[in-house]
Amino acid sequence: MLAGKVPVGSAVPPRNTAPSGKGSKVLVVNAGSSSIKFKIFTAETLLPGAAGLFDRIGDPANCVLKASVPDDGGKPKKFEKKIPAKDHLTAMQDIMSFIDENVSSTFASEVCAVGHRIVHGLDMSQPKLLTPDVIRCIQDASMFAPLHNPPHLQGIYASQKVFGPDVPQVAVFDTAFHQTMPPESYVYGLPYDMYEKHKIRRYGFHGTSHKYLVDQAAAMLGKKVSETNVITCHLGNGSSVAAVRGGQCVDTSMGMTPLEGLLMGTRCGDIDPAVVLHIQNQLGLSASETDTLLNKKSGLLGLTGSNDLRTVIEGAGKGEPRSQLGLDMFVRRVRKYIGAYMAMLDGQVDAVVFSAGIGENSALVRGLICDRMQALGIAVDKDANAAAVGGKQADISGPGARIRALVIPTDEELSIAQQTLQVVRGAALAA
Ligand code: AMP
Repeated sequence: MLAGKVPVGSAVPPRNTAPSGKGSKVLVVNAGSSSIKFKIFTAETLLPGAAGLFDRIGDPANCVLKASVPDDGGKPKKFEKKIPAKDHLTAMQDIMSFIDENVSSTFASEVCAVGHRIVHGLDMSQPKLLTPDVIRCIQDASMFAPLHNPPHLQGIYASQKVFGPDVPQVAVFDTAFHQTMPPESYVYGLPYDMYEKHKIRRYGFHGTSHKYLVDQAAAMLGKKVSETNVITCHLGNGSSVAAVRGGQCVDTSMGMTPLEGLLMGTRCGDIDPAVVLHIQNQLGLSASETDTLLNKKSGLLGLTGSNDLRTVIEGAGKGEPRSQLGLDMFVRRVRKYIGAYMAMLDGQVDAVVFSAGIGENSALVRGLICDRMQALGIAVDKDANAAAVGGKQADISGPGARIRALVIPTDEELSIAQQTLQVVRGAALAA
C-alpha cells in the first residue's frame, strides 16, 4: 500500500542484501527534472502494459499526468488529468493512485522490481541493485550530468518511499554499455591527471539503446551476440553512433557528456574546444551562458531555427539554404562516424543499424547516409528503405551489399525491464 507523504530527499536507507521481490510486474521509471515517465511490464512475458508521463512536476497549476492503459482487448485507452504535484514524491504517489484506480487495485503488491533509467554511472559497467554505494556513485556522477542524475535520485527516493525496502530497485546506466571501450577510445588527449584524478574521460550515452540494438541485430542476423560486429546509429533529437565488436562497444560518438559527436537537435556535437574559449574570452559569455549555447541553442536549432528534422527537411524541400545546410551537416557527420568506425572495426562489420526518431522513420535520411557507400560494402534497397517506417524491424540492404543495413526500433524501457529482472533474479540466486 502507499506510504504516507514525507519529504523527498530523505531516502529510505537502501539495503545491502537482495530484497525478496515477489510479484509479477516490473515498473520502469525515468525521472527528469520536472517529469516522471513510467511503464509497466509483465515480468514473465515482458509484455508492456500501462505507460505514462507526469509532466511539469513542481508547477501545480500546469502539472499533468498523461497515460495510456490497454483495455481488455489490448487497445490503448488514453487518460489526461491535471494533478497538482509539488515534487517527485507526490507525483509518484499520484501515479500509484492512478494505477490503483485505472489498472489494478492491487498493483503495489504485484510489483516485483523497479528499474530506474540513470544517465550517468561513471565506471559502472552493469546495472546494479540500489545499495548505498550505488546511490553514492549516482551522486558522484552528478558533476557530469547535473541536469539528469539529481532528478534521477529524486525518482529513486520517491519510489523507495512508495514501495518500501522489500521491493528491489535497480539502476540501469546509460553509460554502462560503453564501459568495454579501450583506453585509446575513452582517454582524452589531456594531461593524464585529468583522467586519473578528475575522472575526465569519454563515457558515452544511449547505452541502453545501443545494447538493445546489438541484441536485436544479432537475432536478425542469426548470430550470437558475442560474434556480432555492428555500427549502431541512434538518431533522434539526441544522436550517437557506437562501434561494436563481438557484442561489445569499442567506441562511441558521445563523450564525457552527451554534447560530443554528431550534430543534434539542439547540441553542436564535435567542435574545436578553442571555439569555447573564444566565445568566453572574446565574446564575453559566462560559463553557464556558453553551456546553454552549446547544449540548447546549437545543432539543427541554431543552424535552421528548428530542432525538428521534419521541419528542416521541409525547409530544405522549399529551397531554404540554411535548412539544406542543417540536413547536409547532419548526414555528413553520421557518414563520417560510420566511415571511421568501419576502419576501427577493420572493415569486419555485419550491419549498420538505424534507430530512434530519425533512424526509424526517415527513409530520406537513411538513404542519404548510405548513398555512394558501395565501396565500403553498404548499399540500400530503395523500395525496402521507403517501406521501412512505422516502428517495424526491417532489412533494407540492397543487392550486392556486403554489410547489411537494418532498421530496428529501439525500446529503452523494455531493455531496462529486462536488465532489472536479470539483476533481481541474479541477486535472488546468489542470496
Ligand atoms: P527521438 O528523440 O528519438 O524522439 O527523435 C526525434 C527526432 O526524430 C526529431 O528530430 C524528429 O523530427 C525526428 N523524426 C521523427 N519522425 C521523422 C520523420 N518521418 N522524418 C524525419 N525525422 C523524423
